[in-house]
Amino acid sequence: MTRRRTKIVATLGPATDDREVLRKLIQAGADVLRINFSHGGREERLARARAVREVSAELGREVALLADLSGPKIRVEHFAEGKVELRRGQEFTLDTVSVDEPGDETWVGVSYPSLASDVEPGDLLLLDDGLISMRVERTESGRIVCRVETGGTLRDRKGLNISGGGLSVSGITEQDVADIPLAAEMDVDYLAVSFPSNADDIRKARSLLRKAGSEAGVIAKIERTEAIRALDEICDTADAILVARGDLGVEIGDAALPGIQKQIIQASIEHNVTVITATQMMQSMVESPIPTRAEVLDVANAVIDGTDAVMLSAETAVGKHPALVIEAADRVCLGAERHREQSGKIDLLNVRFQRIDQAIAMAATFLSTNVSVQAIVAFTESGSTALWLSRVQSPVPIFALSPSARSRRRMALYRNVYPVAHDAGDGTMDSIIRESLKMLWGHGAIKAGDRVILTMGESAGNQGGTNTMRLIKLGGDGHPEHQTELDLR
Ligand code: ATP
Ligand code: MG
Ligand code: MG
Repeated sequence: MTRRRTKIVATLGPATDDREVLRKLIQAGADVLRINFSHGGREERLARARAVREVSAELGREVALLADLSGPKIRVEHFAEGKVELRRGQEFTLDTVSVDEPGDETWVGVSYPSLASDVEPGDLLLLDDGLISMRVERTESGRIVCRVETGGTLRDRKGLNISGGGLSVSGITEQDVADIPLAAEMDVDYLAVSFPSNADDIRKARSLLRKAGSEAGVIAKIERTEAIRALDEICDTADAILVARGDLGVEIGDAALPGIQKQIIQASIEHNVTVITATQMMQSMVESPIPTRAEVLDVANAVIDGTDAVMLSAETAVGKHPALVIEAADRVCLGAERHREQSGKIDLLNVRFQRIDQAIAMAATFLSTNVSVQAIVAFTESGSTALWLSRVQSPVPIFALSPSARSRRRMALYRNVYPVAHDAGDGTMDSIIRESLKMLWGHGAIKAGDRVILTMGESAGNQGGTNTMRLIKLGGDGHPEHQTELDLR
């Protein structure tokens, strides 16, 4: 059985509210489910979080929940019909005064009072991650009159930027401060911070999160130029990085995006954090049952760049075929991974270690690269050994056995890591190993004749206590077999 290494993040929305659809989404392979706090209200968010927990328990899948803070993004308000068609060449007005009234083909409200003074005639405004553009012609008492350059369907609450950046304010907004306790109440596994400028924004979000009683990991969305300048510091502070290509592309221009994506993914791997690649990965599948070739290549490229996860947004949240999107992503990731079976990016002889578990993870990877081994089994409390193993790009699957449901859900995002529930109890090390191998064998994760590397601590239940590695050959009954010789590859 070939396991997909790359993880899939899917955004929830009206299109996934049907239980049957959510079930299909998780069955088809969604590993992390994202709830965007830019949309919907409190009850809706709580209900979606509850549904994810219930369905994943039903299916016996370890699935993580991610809450994405809205941040300081400027958005259009709403339309009487929920959307309008904009044609190239037509006039369209953004109105910062009548924000509560529904707009139509000629205008829409924007609840950002200083917009009219922030823009100048000639500025190009980009809506919905750049899908629609309009040029500012004049401003008159809080109304910005524009000429549409790229038309299309403009829907409620779509984002608005100036080409070249310079609009949104920075940091954690009042709305975010108010929303963090809700994320804690939803018991999310990850919290994404939108538009952070530097590591301080990440620290602030984490401290608010801890005060609200949540142990969730903090994700930094890289979507403004300041964040790229502070990338190293942000990687050292956040638990994961998200390449938010929508707003980032608008800020730095689309031509710079491929290079920056590669740079961000590489920096994340080097700093031992996980990384998600997001926005328009299979955009045409909002309508279409199959992705375009360009989208297939885009997803595959992110996989080849080494991303931990690819993310779907509108494709699942409001798309026509949410489950088909996951199936397509699953298929394309698996295909791309075939071309990356050999690791080797890491220079195994020239690494400096700070921690013992890191050194063991590296030794395990060294062994699995040079000896025929079919799996690594990591006994891990917090998941940190699994994270190291994943960062040093183990060529074989990493089965992460943990008694902590929180750790297992967090590991759902790690590339090539497969979390498994396992409580060591208080047997001897040998009996714990025997039992857990039998369990994995029963699941079909490993089979007779496989050689397996085990990493563990001397005593179970010790966080960060991994200091031991074993190389074991499985006999016909799933039990370790006595063997001293290695057959050559
Ligand atoms: P962000 O910058 O945070 O990604 P976004 O507006 O691009 O904001 P996404 O989560 O990327 O939002 O989702 C893409 C689209 O899917 C949204 O613009 C919106 O139309 C729709 N959507 C997402 N979540 C919801 C929701 N909870 N309710 C209604 N529509 C949603
Ligand atoms: Mg965004
Ligand atoms: Mg988006």
